[in-house]
Order: sequence, then structure tokens, then C-alpha cells
Amino acid sequence: MTDIYDVLIVGGGPVGGCAGTLLTRASLRVCILEPRRPEVPPIGTPLEARVVAISRASERILRSAATWDRVIGSRVEAYERMRIWHESTPPANALVFDAADVGEPNLGYIIENRLLQAALLDEFTAAGGELIAADFRDLSVGADAVTVETSAGILSAKLVIGADGARSAVRESIGLTASVGDFNETAIVATIATQHPHEKTAWQRFMRKGTLAFLPLADGTSSIVWSADNDLAANLVAMSAAEFETELTRASDVALGSTRLVSERMTFPLKRVSAHRYVTQRCALIGDAAHVVHPLAGQGVNLGLLDAATLAQLVLEARSEREDPGALRVLRQYERWRKSEVAFMSTAIDAFDRFLAHGGGPLSRLAQHGLGWVNRSQQIKRLFVNRALGVAGELPHAAR
Ligand SMILES: Cc1cc2nc3c(=O)[nH]c(=O)nc-3n(C[C@H](O)[C@H](O)[C@H](O)COP(=O)(O)OP(=O)(O)OC[C@H]3O[C@@H](n4cnc5c(N)ncnc54)[C@H](O)[C@@H]3O)c2cc1C
Repeated sequence: MTDIYDVLIVGGGPVGGCAGTLLTRASLRVCILEPRRPEVPPIGTPLEARVVAISRASERILRSAATWDRVIGSRVEAYERMRIWHESTPPANALVFDAADVGEPNLGYIIENRLLQAALLDEFTAAGGELIAADFRDLSVGADAVTVETSAGILSAKLVIGADGARSAVRESIGLTASVGDFNETAIVATIATQHPHEKTAWQRFMRKGTLAFLPLADGTSSIVWSADNDLAANLVAMSAAEFETELTRASDVALGSTRLVSERMTFPLKRVSAHRYVTQRCALIGDAAHVVHPLAGQGVNLGLLDAATLAQLVLEARSEREDPGALRVLRQYERWRKSEVAFMSTAIDAFDRFLAHGGGPLSRLAQHGLGWVNRSQQIKRLFVNRALGVAGELPHAAR
């Protein structure tokens, strides 16, 4: 055994990268294990289809992690409104959330996954963090430290954070169980040129066989996330580009005019994951390792960045009181704080999927009509906008 880190993070995705950067900038000795480090996409290269919508709260967390300046630029689009409607109503009757209604310049940003992850890892190493290109294998928890077996050898840390995504090997190693459910849907992701401009608007149509979202990109194209029932998704990816474009234009209700594919179609089978516990002695899970939600509300990374900022805050508070950062008391505080927030969001997202995207019964019809009703109630709209901005719930300092 060579080194004892204060914190060892398994997984340098956006969530692990953010936790690592916040902790390193506060002078903790931190190591991230990440076998696949991406590079910031070179200037002038086409935008990638795999993007995430991040909230204004996430923007503030990235500013706290000194990473915002590495992210913001010509590849990022700020979106100013959302238009949401159900297939039973025309697009003109859409529920509209506008940043201007709450005095904000925008509701959030559409950012390539790769850019976000690479920017965080670049800042992490620039701040003095140690990035090791190795795979996690196993761990054992001792009284004073955790011993971690990796493909690059044995490491040791006072606290291990599992940020290794939905199929977390850390979760398994520490014996934390999770409920895993299948949405029986596959998300199709692609970059699309549209006949009409996207107007810095995120467009989303709920249908009985899934949900279709157009996320506005900085070069005028849009990234679609079409979460369709598995049988429909299989047909859609098997089609020729021209057939797919016809189906897409029809499914979008021609809201943006005709559509043209400008990238390959990528597919993501959709699962729901909910760890029963987020922590054990000296170990904590964050991001998709702890919870995976349906992408229809664009909340996965946003929830994960809040996990990262909350855990970092509590660990740093423990240090300032000379307390062990791996102490179960500290980690339980993190679990209590985040688990209820995530459960609320996850239940709300599942209800949207069940009643708006799939349902046909009276409750569903009520929910579909409810969209028009919400549109007329400024108070309820504000509630939804605050959720989109990420300013609802109890926020860690970095997100305020
Ligand atoms: C189609 C789609 C659209 C989405 N859109 C949005 C959106 O608009 N907004 C939003 O907020 N979220 C969105 N999400 C969710 C979002 O992508 C995830 O929540 C987010 O990527 C989770 O980040 P993470 O860092 O926790 O995990 P990941 O991104 O999965 O990163 C995990 C990292 O761990 C590493 N790793 C894995 N195993 C090991 C190991 N054994 N050893 C070492 N390292 C390991 C991996 O290489 C990876 O880099 C979307 C998801 C999908 C599928």
C-alpha cells in the first residue's frame, strides 16, 4: 500500500468529477479512478448529439467548482423557455414556461456530456487532484481507512465515493442493494436540423407510446431524446434515415417544420435505479450510482451535481471540526438530505411518464387536461419553473 488519500472517487463522470474538484479546491487530498478520460471537443468540430440540460443551480455548482469558464462558450446553448404538450392537443395549446416570466435570463443550458465531463476533470487535475486511469475491482473497509483494489494496484483512502454510474461496482462491493426497474422504453438520441428555428426553446411532446424532446443546440440544430416503447424504438432505429425523418416530423406534430438527421441514431435502454441506502461506514454513493431517473425531465446530472455539492459540503464541515470525513455520522447526514429530495423528484418524473406519456384512463385524461390548467395558473407555473431552475428544496451552499 502506497498512499492514503482523504477521498478516493471511483468514476470521473460529471458527478464524480464535480465532487473531486470541489474537494480538491478545498485542499483535500483526492484521487479519481477513471479509465476513460475524454478530451474537451476541439473548436470547430460538430456538436455531439449526447447532451444534457443543466439547471441554473447546476451552473452555480460548476461556478463553485471553478469549472464554468471551461464549459461556457460557443458550444453551449442557453434555453429560455420550454413548450410541453400532449398528443391530444395541438402544439399551439402547449404549456409554456418562460424564463422572462420569473425575471431570469434563461432556464438553463444544453451542454455536450463530453464537454462537461472533460472540463471538470481538467479543472480537477489543474487544482492538484490525482487522476488515475484504472478500473475499480474491489474494496475492504477497515477501522481507519478503506483499501481499494484497482487495475493499477492497491490504494487507500479515509472515504471512498462511488460515482461509477448505474451499474456501480462500488455499490455491489459494499453490499448496498438497489431496486432496479425497467421502463420498457429505449431513448433514441440524435442531432436534427429543423425547418424552423428552435427559438432557444426546449420542445417536448407526450404521446401514448413515449415522449419526444427537442433540445436547442448552439449551432441552430436540436438534439432529440425520443423515449419510445421498446417495440416502437426498435422499428424507428431499423428504418432508413428518410423514413425516420418522416416519422419524427409526424411525432413532433410538425412543431418545428420538417426534420433532417445530421448524426447517427444512438440508443439507451431506460432503467430506473434506486439504492436502498446511499452510505455505509467510509463509503458513499452519488449520482447514477445511487439513483437513475427517467430522462424525460432532464434531471439525472442535476440531481447528481447536487449530491456532489452536498457531500462535499458535509465532508468539509467535518474536516473543519477535525472529524473523520469517513465517519458514518457525517455520511448519514448526506443520505438523509439527498435521499428524500431524490425520492420526491423520481416519483414526480414517474408520474409524468405514467399519466402523460402512457396512460389512457380517467386519471391520465385529467393529467392531460391539467397541462392547460397549469398554463393558466401563475402560481403552479412558478413552482414548475423553480424545479426547472433547480432552486426548489434544500440546497447546499454551492448551489445557492
Ligand atoms: C438519453 C439520456 C438523456 C439524458 N438527458 C439528461 C439531461 O438532459 N439532463 C440531466 O441532468 N441528465 C440527463 N440524463 C442523465 C445523465 O446522463 C446521467 O444522470 C449522468 O450521466 C450521471 O452521471 P454520473 O457521473 O453519475 O455517471 P456516469 O455519467 O455514468 O459516469 C460514471 C463514470 O464512472 C466510470 N466507471 C464506471 N465503472 C468504473 C469502474 N469499475 N472503475 C472506474 N471507473 C468506472 C465510467 O467510465 C464513467 O465515466 C440523460 C440520460 C440519458 C440516458
